[in-house]
Amino acid sequence: MEWTDETIARLRALWAEGLSTAEIGRRLNISKNAVVGKAHRLSLPARPSPIRRTTGEATPRPTTPKRTQGPTLPPLPASVSAPVPVLRAIAPAPKPQQPRALPCCWPIGEPGRPGFHFCNAAAVTGKPYCEEHAAIAYVRVRDKREDVA
Ligand SMILES: [Zn+2]
Repeated sequence: MEWTDETIARLRALWAEGLSTAEIGRRLNISKNAVVGKAHRLSLPARPSPIRRTTGEATPRPTTPKRTQGPTLPPLPASVSAPVPVLRAIAPAPKPQQPRALPCCWPIGEPGRPGFHFCNAAAVTGKPYCEEHAAIAYVRVRDKREDVA
């Protein structure tokens, strides 16, 4: 192997590019050992990490990330690890406006006698009676209190 100035220049250039010694040898049509030996004699600086992975030689092993073994946060206490879903807790109940569907509890007729029944009108929300009977009921309650008093 005869090292010409041109070959040495190419070696330096390829060396600077970070190619592997084998790749440089292929490009200069010389052996890898010739490249290594010449580079040593030329006191070429240690090459930077090769960016190109044409041969896989001198490719640094990928550093294993240290944070791949699970969550970095410490495990939460049992009472906290199972939080109640907020949205579910706030979500309305699956029985929409059920009180309104209840019939009025107002008795019509005499209990125990034929024809006795309860008012079929829908009860006012929050009250056991329909709007009409609720008014009567509260009047009666008030009258009773006045009677007692
Ligand atoms: Zn009623």
